[in-house]
Amino acid sequence: MSKQHVVIVGGGVIGLLTAFNLASKVQSVVLLERSGVGQESSWAGGGIVSPLYPWRYSPAVTALAHWSQDFYPQLAERLLGATGIDPEVHKTGLYWLDLDDEKEALAWAQRLNRPLSSVDISQVHDAVPVMGGGYSRAIYMPDIANVRNPRLVKSLKAALLAMPNVMIHEQCEVSGFVRDGHRVIGVSTAAGDVLADSVVLAAGAWSGDLLGTLGLELPVEPVKGQMILFKCASDFLPSMILAKGRYAIPRRDGHILVGSTLEYEGYDKTPTDTALESLRASAVELIPALADAEVVGHWAGLRPGSPEGIPFIGPVPNHDGLWLNCGHFRNGLVLAPASCQLLSDLLVGEAPIIDPVPYAPEGRIQR
Ligand SMILES: Cc1cc2nc3c(=O)[nH]c(=O)nc-3n(C[C@H](O)[C@H](O)[C@H](O)COP(=O)(O)OP(=O)(O)OC[C@H]3O[C@@H](n4cnc5c(N)ncnc54)[C@H](O)[C@@H]3O)c2cc1C
Repeated sequence: MSKQHVVIVGGGVIGLLTAFNLASKVQSVVLLERSGVGQESSWAGGGIVSPLYPWRYSPAVTALAHWSQDFYPQLAERLLGATGIDPEVHKTGLYWLDLDDEKEALAWAQRLNRPLSSVDISQVHDAVPVMGGGYSRAIYMPDIANVRNPRLVKSLKAALLAMPNVMIHEQCEVSGFVRDGHRVIGVSTAAGDVLADSVVLAAGAWSGDLLGTLGLELPVEPVKGQMILFKCASDFLPSMILAKGRYAIPRRDGHILVGSTLEYEGYDKTPTDTALESLRASAVELIPALADAEVVGHWAGLRPGSPEGIPFIGPVPNHDGLWLNCGHFRNGLVLAPASCQLLSDLLVGEAPIIDPVPYAPEGRIQR
């Protein structure tokens, strides 16, 4: 075990899982969260354990996604065993309807040996009787799951609270970094400085603001996403379905999430009537029976948008002791296990699970 003391800034899924991984590798971990842990994007997301259109992403995103997809069931089992809180990894498969780039999707799947195939639309109606009638083509990947992200973060928090060398401070905003020459030796908060051997910045959409206090420009920006929620019978929707950029996700208990919008509105995360109506229209097009269902929830979250959705994972050049794990954009839940394992491998000097080069901050942040 390394003798390091580590501070993590931000308690979304990325900060929490980074803490969880590091706890067994370093002497102590302190996680600082401005509000309550797991209440921002990691709560608001849909929890699909796949990029929405995986074939449209770079090999860098694909590598993290595939490692994580394989790992999710064991992570959920471990968390359930440790905390009694089930993150509910729900393997339903996903149907994409009337895609423009179906050929590219199938070619990608063949190249990477993923189980994606085209399905006759009548078979989709048999499998998902509530699906709307206006579609003519579908492709299907049977092994895609969704995770109940609010429970995932709750169970990560509970697991961390039970670890003797982990401390979580909520309502503790980090305002900047403490430096000693080229080294970052801690962070500043209203309650005083917190010193550490290593600082991991995992502040989601707000990571760029904090790095800006060091005169560095990190291209991570907030991208608002709104979702609506219905409650149906538990067997109402057997699979996830997606058309025209909108999707329906069934939870095990019959909650159906429909998302999402993609809005560049700064840090405003007020849910709007326009989005509500647009999401409801998409929901009814996908599943006509939802016209009679009540919308029981409507919220917005801020994704940490980054160029091509490639997260920043690794050390910050010329700032020894400072590490990034942020910028996961639309895929932070699916990418979390691999991203946090990779960061932890690099920080303690173990062989990394995958090639870290594509995610390295070096060359991707401006001074
Ligand atoms: C509508 C929507 C749908 C989505 N659907 C999916 C999906 O289906 N699958 C998927 O994989 N991903 C999805 N995502 C994306 C995913 O939710 C994010 O990529 C992921 O949650 C990012 O995690 P994070 O920990 O980096 O950020 P966050 O969860 O936002 O956490 C960052 C934390 O840092 C804290 N913080 C910020 N500044 C400070 C500071 N100065 N001091 C202390 N703490 C600070 C914040 O309070 C926050 O708790 C979706 C997102 C949205 C909004």
